[in-house]
Amino acid sequence: MENRLKYLFALQIVDSQLQEVHDLKGDLPGLVDELGLKVDELKTTIKDLNSTLKQSKVNRDKADVEIIDLAEKVEKYKNQQLNVKSNKQYDALTREIEAAEKKSVQLEKDMETYETQMEAAKNANETLTKQLEQISEELDEKKKELREVNKEHEKEESKYHHERDKIIARIDKQDLERYERIKKAKGGIAVVAVKRNACGGCFSRVPPQKILEIRQNNLFFTCEHCGRILVSDHIVSVSKIL
Ligand SMILES: [Zn+2]
Repeated sequence: MENRLKYLFALQIVDSQLQEVHDLKGDLPGLVDELGLKVDELKTTIKDLNSTLKQSKVNRDKADVEIIDLAEKVEKYKNQQLNVKSNKQYDALTREIEAAEKKSVQLEKDMETYETQMEAAKNANETLTKQLEQISEELDEKKKELREVNKEHEKEESKYHHERDKIIARIDKQDLERYERIKKAKGGIAVVAVKRNACGGCFSRVPPQKILEIRQNNLFFTCEHCGRILVSDHIVSVSKIL
């Protein structure tokens, strides 16, 4: 039992040291992730805008060609009208001309719509491309800063991770789960020593009887107030020389 408590406290020490290193990095890792996501989002939006632009251009050019075709047809029908033999034929051609002209008017309107779309896509593209440049630059800077901080603490961190792995190998699964659960709920601190008759985590008073029992080092005791695992000074001192 003493060993179980000892390894849990040792794990707590290493985890607190890792947390310290993590705190030194501040919000850099989060910031790098956030900026990276923004860059990806902007790239996707710009790609979508480019395909909109391309499609609108294709549609506009198609409408343009169609308008020219229709004008040629109208010209042809008008010529034919000069040589028709009957009113019926003449009227049929008039209807063709009217239909072609009507379609042409619609296509002109469509062309305007496509051009408006192109203009909007172009403007949005310009704005977003500028934004992308700025954010990419910022991302590169923050990445560089993070690389430097990481490099600075690399050895320290890998030493702690190595220690952590060694300690974890000696802790049984249930104890570890319990530890992780409390750690997560209690701001990274799961195991604390009793200091001056109080819980080292929340500073609530620990009853004298309980302190005596904790000193036996043969049971798990948790703080009645915060739920953290309480250990004796003895556990603290043997954990340090692990
Ligand atoms: Zn407590």
